[in-house]
Amino acid sequence: MSIDLHMHSTSSDGALNPAELMAFAREKGGVETVALTDHDTVQGVAEARHAAEALGMRFIPGIEISSLWGSKCIHVVGLNVDPASKKMLYRLKHLSDCRVQRAAEIGEKLSALGFPGLHEAALKLSRNKLNVSRMHFAQAMVQAKIVRHIQEAFDKYLGEGQRAYIPTLWLDIATAVEVIHEAGGVAVLAHPGRYKFPELWQLEALVKDFRQMGGEAIEVVSGSQSAEYIQICCDWARRYDFYASTGSDFHSEIGKRPLPGCQGALPSGVKSVLRLL
Ligand code: AMP
Ligand code: MN
Ligand code: MN
Ligand code: MN
Repeated sequence: MSIDLHMHSTSSDGALNPAELMAFAREKGGVETVALTDHDTVQGVAEARHAAEALGMRFIPGIEISSLWGSKCIHVVGLNVDPASKKMLYRLKHLSDCRVQRAAEIGEKLSALGFPGLHEAALKLSRNKLNVSRMHFAQAMVQAKIVRHIQEAFDKYLGEGQRAYIPTLWLDIATAVEVIHEAGGVAVLAHPGRYKFPELWQLEALVKDFRQMGGEAIEVVSGSQSAEYIQICCDWARRYDFYASTGSDFHSEIGKRPLPGCQGALPSGVKSVLRLL
């Protein structure tokens, strides 16, 4: 059985709309259990649910919340969240405001660097105008031939600490966990292997802290982290009593990421987060 509990649609920075994404996951990845986890929005959930269920898949409504652990941006996936949760929608409005404001500021920084018009171009590329992503800026910069590819846009301009980077007041990580719980969901630490801490013990401190806040699961298998983290996260899942999740973190066919459902199954010896869903 192919499972994918982390994917993005055009409601955030993915390339396919929610219905197309579900069909793609079913046909290309043979996915049978699927979650839509757009950044900071549940706008695509209703359409995705409808499409997934029509294709005979089990659908799990989800989200990937941008949060802060100290000054570090950490992603927390919520699985089985109620998309109508008032408390969650209130917090998501704040995140959306942050994104709108940040997009204008990134545009200004890029203008000052001699690249005008990118705020407008990024907005054009973003289907959901209230969910502009750095990914849309990266795409706009590729189209304008300022960089050759998305990665170069992040490495030179948009990545943390780079020339057009704007720090953002995301939700505190404990609040992100709380919001997911209030919406009836399960909180999952997304792709631990992506956070670029200087030392592994610092990442482990985050993992322990996330457990203390009430986080129930970590992504042991993720299309957006390298395979060496499977064993590391497996060990932590056992040591700190986490459930384990698996997701492709699919955005589009461009790049090296696995297709939906093709990121790999969970290794034996960990308990699947599906048991909680
Ligand atoms: P945002 O949530 O708007 O800050 O944008 C972050 C998104 O940009 C992530 O979800 C990824 O899809 C993408 N991203 C972030 N960092 C990189 C990177 N170094 N290379 C490529 N894509 C990235
Ligand atoms: Mn993304
Ligand atoms: Mn993420
Ligand atoms: Mn993601």
